[in-house]
Amino acid sequence: MSQFWSPGVHRLTPYTPGEQPRQKLIKLNTNENPWPPAPGVERVLRHFESEQLRRYPDPEATALREALAREYSVDVSQVFVGNGSDEVLALAFQAFFLHDAPLLMPEISYSFYPVYCRLYGIGPRTIPLNEQWQVDLEGFEGEHAGIVFANPNAPTGHGHERADIRRLLERMRERVVLIDEAYADFGGESAVPLIEEHPNLLVTGTFSKSRSLAGLRIGFAIGSRELIEGLDRVKDSFNSYPLDMLAIEAGVAALADRDHFEHCRRAVMATRDHTRQALEAMGFEVLPSQTNFLLVRATRQPAAEIFAALREEYGILVRHFNTDQLRDFLRISIGSEDEMQALIEALGEIGAG
Ligand code: PMP
Repeated sequence: MSQFWSPGVHRLTPYTPGEQPRQKLIKLNTNENPWPPAPGVERVLRHFESEQLRRYPDPEATALREALAREYSVDVSQVFVGNGSDEVLALAFQAFFLHDAPLLMPEISYSFYPVYCRLYGIGPRTIPLNEQWQVDLEGFEGEHAGIVFANPNAPTGHGHERADIRRLLERMRERVVLIDEAYADFGGESAVPLIEEHPNLLVTGTFSKSRSLAGLRIGFAIGSRELIEGLDRVKDSFNSYPLDMLAIEAGVAALADRDHFEHCRRAVMATRDHTRQALEAMGFEVLPSQTNFLLVRATRQPAAEIFAALREEYGILVRHFNTDQLRDFLRISIGSEDEMQALIEALGEIGAG
């Protein structure tokens, strides 16, 4: 509390990011990728001349938007980029969701969405997940300022097929439907091909997960020209240069290497499937996942105790959400095969399951 703060700052409940530890831990808590970025990224960094930094970067990040347009088979005018998809999401909330009706979102989804709601004074209305712990698309109904959810959802891991998303969009044409595809490259089906028919669909994505570039902060959105123009208006009222020169160049290099991308995402998915089998054999309940993490229910021991033992005795960091619905679960990011082996061994010694 401070007399110097604007009044609303007292009322914010900021997002708590997963811990970024200083000591060397096996880090399975923020869904980073165990594989290195594409080799072309390394070349960009090595050959970058610091002399260039005297200048501002391209405010429109044209080279990166063009590369994304090619990747997703859309026009460059349908692509927006920002400093991580968190920033893109924040700008989208401001551009599209400040209407006199609640913003619809799943009761369990990315925990940053309610944080943006408080920041902008948007009233959320949360829709419970269905019995299989999936986003209940049928449950989105009634007056609303827009809809937001992650597909595949986080931290649950299930993704809806494009046909399900199309059915939702056929009912919801008045306001923006924002689909956060941060994890879609690990087995989800992207809704991007639906943007031509649905000018109210905005899809966001990130280089932090499937492109192994969380440290560089690159996020993007794809949608109709009118949505991208709305985002540009808000962005240019806030920060004209959200992406620096290195991020723009390295992002282009990452997109250029399709083989590396395919290899890494397939390897992560294979490790995920081995890890699931091992965890299930130990007695954990593991939710289906089309992402680079597993949501795992502990059946014999409180999840909070397993979390603490992993961290303190084995130096393994996973994520525990201390909420009513998620208290019994751990969210485990997919690391390398060796890291997952170390996790399984530690869980075995703890007697967890
Ligand atoms: N959406 C979801 C569902 C996420 O889990 C994350 C990562 N915490 C993000 C968006 C943001 O990712 P970034 O800002 O690194 O692009």
